[in-house]
Amino acid sequence: MHPSITTIGFDADDTLWQNEQFFRSSERQFADLLSPHAKFDDLSGRLLAVEKRNLDLYGFGIKGFTLSLIETAVEVTEGEVPSSVIAEILAAGREMLRHPVETLPHVQETLEALADQYRLVLITKGDLFDQERKLAQSGLGDFFDAVEIVSNKDRNTYERIFRRHGDGPERSMMIGNSLKSDVVPAIEAGSWGIFVPHELTWALEHVEAPVAEPRFRQIEHLAELMPLLAEIG
Ligand SMILES: [Mg+2]
Repeated sequence: MHPSITTIGFDADDTLWQNEQFFRSSERQFADLLSPHAKFDDLSGRLLAVEKRNLDLYGFGIKGFTLSLIETAVEVTEGEVPSSVIAEILAAGREMLRHPVETLPHVQETLEALADQYRLVLITKGDLFDQERKLAQSGLGDFFDAVEIVSNKDRNTYERIFRRHGDGPERSMMIGNSLKSDVVPAIEAGSWGIFVPHELTWALEHVEAPVAEPRFRQIEHLAELMPLLAEIG
């Protein structure tokens, strides 16, 4: 018998609302903008390498992504990228920061049903401004007892957050679309880790599913969460 769950952590991007699709469409726009100015193959790979290199400096989010787009543009054009293209990249970044929030299916009713019985904590990476804007626009803010916008999600993050806002990791559950950021480190901290795959997930968030872990589960969408909680307590 395990202690019952009192606290549930939710990832935000691509768990509660759409996110990655905006990055993908900006990336397509970026390729179109650059194609008259440079010959490149595997532009996505070049961009990913730049993003990876900058991650420790910029963290996760749209502003860092925009800077990485500019850096990649400079690289692939060998310094010849026109300033008009840079201006368009900056405009695309601003557009991303303004995009309307699109919540995913079953989110609203699931949070509503859980909010009375559990302490709900939103745990997300990304730009502070941007995440606060999306939470406000989503109308989901009132369901959460706490919001944690963090620069990284590792085992210590979940230990700290579930101690601060709940009864410790053992009595907590984390739900998200990233095995690497949401599921695996939460399980390492001693919590349950529930994987809700999204069709689009950033390449740097992929790791193997911890299928042998007793506290690992995978669900198709958030409507499966209530039955799962009933099953495991
Ligand atoms: Mg996510």
